[in-house]
Amino acid sequence: MQILNPATNEVLQEIAEDSRAQITEKYEKVKAGQKSWAARPLSERIDIISKYAELVKDNLEDLAKTLTLEMGKPIRQSRNEINGAGGRIRFFLANAEKYLSEEEMFSDGGMREVIRYEPLGVIGNISAWNYPYNVGYNVFIPALLAGNSVLYKPSEFATLTGLKIRELLWKAGVPENVFECVIGTGQAGQTLLDLPLDGYFFTGSYKTGKYIAENVANKLVPVQLELGGKDPVYVCDDIPDVKSAAQGIADGAFYNNGQSCCAVERIYVHEKIYDAFVQHFTDEVKTFVCGDPLSEETYNGPLTRSAQLDFLDMQVKDALDKGAKLLLGGKRLEKAGNWYENTVLIDANHEMSLMKEESFGPIIGLMKVSGDAEAINLMNDTEYGLTAAVYTADANRADAISTQLHVGTVYWNCCDRVSPNVPWTGRGNSGLGSTLSYQGIRAFTQPKAYQMRS
Ligand code: NDP
Repeated sequence: MQILNPATNEVLQEIAEDSRAQITEKYEKVKAGQKSWAARPLSERIDIISKYAELVKDNLEDLAKTLTLEMGKPIRQSRNEINGAGGRIRFFLANAEKYLSEEEMFSDGGMREVIRYEPLGVIGNISAWNYPYNVGYNVFIPALLAGNSVLYKPSEFATLTGLKIRELLWKAGVPENVFECVIGTGQAGQTLLDLPLDGYFFTGSYKTGKYIAENVANKLVPVQLELGGKDPVYVCDDIPDVKSAAQGIADGAFYNNGQSCCAVERIYVHEKIYDAFVQHFTDEVKTFVCGDPLSEETYNGPLTRSAQLDFLDMQVKDALDKGAKLLLGGKRLEKAGNWYENTVLIDANHEMSLMKEESFGPIIGLMKVSGDAEAINLMNDTEYGLTAAVYTADANRADAISTQLHVGTVYWNCCDRVSPNVPWTGRGNSGLGSTLSYQGIRAFTQPKAYQMRS
């Protein structure tokens, strides 16, 4: 397997894919290690994961550079991701004891009823490339804390990062027969589906997620899916500062080149402030520096996958054919690597793919709306349901709108953020189950009821 630098298309490294037999061997290995890992006191597992977090801090520059080289994320954003993901680890460490310890639900007259949270066993973590630390930690950190062993399949576009994570987990004290990486493309992921794992935790596209859920359904084991989105923002007419809202939303749309599951993918603006918003928004996007992802100045690097360039070309053409106006960008940059201009289209509508299909790139459509009712209808006019944001000065208005949105997360006066304190979950084609929060700790356990008469 060739690992390419998406900024140049140069080969960074050649690496051997795991064969089916090797993946099966890895499965047997981590299955053998799981029981003794689960038998260790939780405090020991907490110490080991704390040590891992320290090692990540000590190796920040090397890890950030590896991520930037293999997926094109600008270096400052790579550091941000790795540091920010540390916050997720701190959340899990602080809450593991509380949510993994035995709970007594009833005790009377010699009868006790207790819940114990036992690990699932061997879990498969099939992961995406866009935030390999964040989305990986959502799964393998709480899974390990709960006493599971993990077969972690990084995306083929984040393979080197996956191997670095494995090295540091092992160095921190996670036994080699408790955490393993499965190296390869979708074919390697397919092998995991064929093995008798005790749970499947997937981050990636709706298409692959649905395929996985269908393929493992007959095993009757937990399946969780964190999938894509077409996340909307609605900007009401009462916001006090149109410029600062436009700046925040532009960042939400273009950060990581739009390759975030909760990136702003479509914007609805009240007609009273539409022109002013569009002006401030495009002014802000023009300030984003596009270039070498290793440069400290860079805000936009290349796209990670070359195939996405054709998709963005299609969305621009389709939008223009159907009446949108192009204000910025609209085409590839003619140089080696997967480069696309930051693209802003206005006067969009729901006939366009731009407003319906996940773009996952540096492109955004804006649409004028007459009021809240129209905005809510449009925001809900999607098969996805990951996040949605409303910008307004009025808390009651925000609440009235938010309760009507069919999504896993609503934002008021903010967007494109994930917090470990609350569940990360999608509705519709955006997923199944929750990671993060206490639910994302318990997701890796099976509650067992003990009914005991003494
Ligand atoms: P893909 O669905 O293409 O791939 C995800 C993972 O599945 C990769 O490791 C991939 O391997 C693997 N895979 C592919 N085919 C199979 C198969 N047949 N069986 C088992 N595994 C397989 O998604 P991307 O990696 O491109 O991620 C982008 C998508 O992820 C976007 O839609 C984004 O919105 C979503 N996402 C959602 C998040 C959320 O929290 N809701 C967070 C981050 C991303 P390989 O890479 O080697 O092909």
